Amino acid sequence: MAEDKKIEGDTAKDGDEYEKVCFLCRRPESKAGKMIALPNNIYICPDCMQKSFDSMTNGSINYNDLLANIPALQIFDLNSLQNQVPQRQKIKKKKHKKKASPAFDIRKLPAPHKIKAGLDEYVIGQERAKKAISVAVYNHYKRIHADPSDGVEIEKSNMLMLGPTGSGKTYLVQTLARILDVPLALTDATSLTEAGYIGDDIESVVSKLLAAAGNDVERAERGIIFIDEIDKLAKKRNTNQRDVSGEAVQQGMLRLLEGADVEVPVGANSKNAMVPLTTVNTRNILFICGGAFPELPDIIKVRLNKQASIGFQADLKDKYDNDKELLAKVTVEDLRKFGMIPEFLGRLPIIFALQGLTEDMLVQILKEPRNAILKQYGKLLAMDEVRLEFEEEALREIARQAMEKDTGARALRAIIEEFMLDIMFEIPKDDSIGEVIITKEYITKTGGPRILLRGQETPLLETRQP
Ligand code: ADP
Repeated sequence: MAEDKKIEGDTAKDGDEYEKVCFLCRRPESKAGKMIALPNNIYICPDCMQKSFDSMTNGSINYNDLLANIPALQIFDLNSLQNQVPQRQKIKKKKHKKKASPAFDIRKLPAPHKIKAGLDEYVIGQERAKKAISVAVYNHYKRIHADPSDGVEIEKSNMLMLGPTGSGKTYLVQTLARILDVPLALTDATSLTEAGYIGDDIESVVSKLLAAAGNDVERAERGIIFIDEIDKLAKKRNTNQRDVSGEAVQQGMLRLLEGADVEVPVGANSKNAMVPLTTVNTRNILFICGGAFPELPDIIKVRLNKQASIGFQADLKDKYDNDKELLAKVTVEDLRKFGMIPEFLGRLPIIFALQGLTEDMLVQILKEPRNAILKQYGKLLAMDEVRLEFEEEALREIARQAMEKDTGARALRAIIEEFMLDIMFEIPKDDSIGEVIITKEYITKTGGPRILLRGQETPLLETRQP
């Protein structure tokens, strides 16, 4: 409610910060040209005004007909109509900055080691990936800043990130966007279709980014777009199916990855007559694609075995069978075999892989990241003045159960939530409880947690972290 009030009452002030939108064609000022102001806060673009005059002077439509073409006019108060352009559909004006202050200050950009240190606080393991992403991002923003007049144009560092489900691909990108303070749009390749089919068309990702940037086009143009499940766009090897979301979508994404002017609806997912449009250039938007590429290890293995069999090591056929680092050995040729088209791969020059998580890593993920799930539960219970502890063996057991599910770190939360539900329900009932220790037995459902009453000291207590 408060939000609504603010939106309605703020029109005068917003007038400076947001673009005016033509009442008839809904195009913003930056597209349609300077608006002609009519009473009641109504703005008409020169084109629509001209069309109105033309139709009046031609005599084909008289003034009444024109009004009749605007259905809402006879029914509503005009003032309220103009105010109805929702806040989320308003476009922030581009700031016309003086040349002296560049849009992006390279000196404020953290160096790769600082970006990686920021990632280290949240993302466990994945050292190579964190290094690769830090350097690529640093170069990307340098590129935006670089002066192209000497003819040397730095290539765009769009990335392709391979790695099993739940290994932290999305999390890595989310953390990165937070460190750099740039807007981020996450999307799923499976939801994208060619223009004209049911589903989100490819350009809708740019619209999402604009929304994440608070409709500030300049901010959006330096943002990050993460497209997950990109492997699902592989060319179908079975060609009986119509390829709506596969190769054609890869084709459709080419110009976006490279850099193009895209007309996007503001505050909505699809273009329609009532939504204002604006233009976003994707040249400086960093695209990161991610995918699990499930059959890729087999393709890599076949290639490596073939290479080996040329030499004298033909007997080592199973050499790569248990190689956990197989994905890291990927080449562009392997990805082509998988079904990604060469033009698409050519626009994602930085390719790196995340490792599958080990049991040890899962234990670390539980307790070490800055917003680790155990810290979160600890904080919740601390508000009831109850201390929460986990025995090391209990953590191992949770990690072991999560490994069985084969969905990486994603399984951890589900497992923890299941048994923490009872704790979170029961503990606040009893004011005398001072500490809860989660035991391995509780996780394996062969026993309960250890509950200590307030004031009850345990020898461990002194050494425990607060
Ligand atoms: P995916 O690789 O499938 O995109 P996500 O990034 O969505 O996986 O991971 C799911 C969740 O698991 C994240 O929200 C994060 O909390 C946790 N997670 C996964 N990998 C890591 C990691 N390496 N370090 C810390 N947390 C992680």
